[in-house]
Amino acid sequence: MRKKIVAGNWKMNNNRTETKNLIKSLKELKFSSHVRVMIAPALIHLAEAEEMTSGSIIEVIAQNMNSAESGAFTGEISAGMLQSIGVKKVILGHSERRTFYNESDESLKDKVSTALKNDMEFIFCFGEQLSDRKSNSHFDVIKAQLSNALFHLSSSSWSNVILAYEPVWAIGTGETASPEQAQEMHNYIRSMIAEKYHQSLADCVSILYGGSLKPSNASAIFSQPDVDGGLIGGASLKVDDFYTIVQSV
Ligand code: PEP
Repeated sequence: MRKKIVAGNWKMNNNRTETKNLIKSLKELKFSSHVRVMIAPALIHLAEAEEMTSGSIIEVIAQNMNSAESGAFTGEISAGMLQSIGVKKVILGHSERRTFYNESDESLKDKVSTALKNDMEFIFCFGEQLSDRKSNSHFDVIKAQLSNALFHLSSSSWSNVILAYEPVWAIGTGETASPEQAQEMHNYIRSMIAEKYHQSLADCVSILYGGSLKPSNASAIFSQPDVDGGLIGGASLKVDDFYTIVQSV
């Protein structure tokens, strides 16, 4: 069955010393073996983070990568570069990448293919805008995001996929989906996968929730049957908060 996962997305935060200190503090903590703990430091710190966490339960995941294997893409990094420093996981399609860097379902489909070609595991992020929810089109939006970027995959490729449902209106805003809203959407996502593939495959896909998770609301959301953990932004920068969230899953 699927394992619980809590991943911290550090975004463009923490200089080298702060990154090392946060990793050192996390390494001193005792995590339960039923949960996978991931951290996504900034690109420049990935190699050091990978070295520092080697042999520990903490897994390092990149925040982004380019779909091309190499070439004239100034400022970008490739799957091969990540692999060369031991990083075998990547976050794809975070809402900030979709909003600020124009990532679309089509461009993400290419990144997904590149990740799979390189046998990388990836957290695929998606979620509706507030206007979608207000107009009651949130299910259609989610269906389109998933089917456009992921439903060309073979069943066997799904073992590399972790989903993160992140309603855009809840990211970094202090607004959180209610446990019922999260469960309703996670259940919908799982049934879509079951319909397209098979129930047994859908039952194996981890679906994380993301959007202003904090120690005070994590347990209620994590207790929902189709929520398999969380992608944490702001609260992952504070060791005590992140640890409490991990312990809540
Ligand atoms: C995120 O960036 O994926 C996220 C969920 O951020 P926050 O927890 O700060 O809302």
